[in-house]
Amino acid sequence: MAAGDAALKRTLDAVRSRCDVAARRASDPVGFVHGYADPLDQELVALLASSIAFGNVKTIRAKLGDALRRLGPSPRLAADDALLVFQRLDGWVHRVFRGEDLARLLIGARRLQRAHGSLGARFEDDLAKGGSLREALARFTTAIRDAGGLGSSPGSALRRGPAHLLPDPRGASGSKRLLLFLRWMVRPADGVDLGLWSGVAPAVLLCPVDTHIHKLSRNLGLTRRADLSWETAEEITRGLARFDPADPVKYDFSLCHLGMLQRCPSRRDASRCEGCGVMPVCRHWSRAPAKAVRAGEPKPRNMPRGPAARGARVERVSARAVRR
Ligand code: SF4
Repeated sequence: MAAGDAALKRTLDAVRSRCDVAARRASDPVGFVHGYADPLDQELVALLASSIAFGNVKTIRAKLGDALRRLGPSPRLAADDALLVFQRLDGWVHRVFRGEDLARLLIGARRLQRAHGSLGARFEDDLAKGGSLREALARFTTAIRDAGGLGSSPGSALRRGPAHLLPDPRGASGSKRLLLFLRWMVRPADGVDLGLWSGVAPAVLLCPVDTHIHKLSRNLGLTRRADLSWETAEEITRGLARFDPADPVKYDFSLCHLGMLQRCPSRRDASRCEGCGVMPVCRHWSRAPAKAVRAGEPKPRNMPRGPAARGARVERVSARAVRR
């Protein structure tokens, strides 16, 4: 392995081992999935949680918590009664999604569970039919949509919610939320991911690319692509597979949460980059002036100068100290 790759692998492994899994899980939508004991409930809650996971994470958790409270202790049992699900989710709204969209997603997924034994068994069948992960995922999501009537009910074509809740992976987006759902279900249980779908190899997974992973991946040289497309997910995953071809996506959770904590600026910023675990291999710092590196105190070239800028930096550092 080249020296640069070895340094990157060491850094990624260190970020992963230092991640406070319990604390980070508690602030992530996946934390709700761990609140259920039955794997069939876990599958359904994971699908709901990942499907609404875009935007502010606190809002996502609040909306998800509200939906799950409405559904009661077992979403699986609630979903067996379609009318009841519609009643319980009536009035629930999150961004472009309405309670009726969530109800159709849940009812469709539950019908697949009953037909195949579990969502995992159905997805294994979709993979076994051949073709790419993308095609298998497209078959899987189409089956859920059809079973629940998601996107085919009267008036649904007039709103973005039904199509956006469970997108078609053959479309232009990177299907981050679907890939996140797969990661939770497939990767071995590690306190975050659940390892429920042991018949699917983690090697087939792709990294769910949100803005945090995208920024970090560009900063670490895993991709130069500027979009959040499926192709970008493939390129980032290929980069990570150099370090663990059997489980390349294992770095996703710790990296994503590092990006969230650092509010990665994707440029040299002494206060926001302070304490960032990947700074030694970040392209914005690894090319720091030799003198500054020797002194152990990087001097960013593009930092604002002058008294006002110094005051702003002091304020930002103080604010971070208070938050800790
Ligand atoms: S060192 Fe700064 S720019 Fe680089 S990844 Fe970390 S937070 Fe982002």
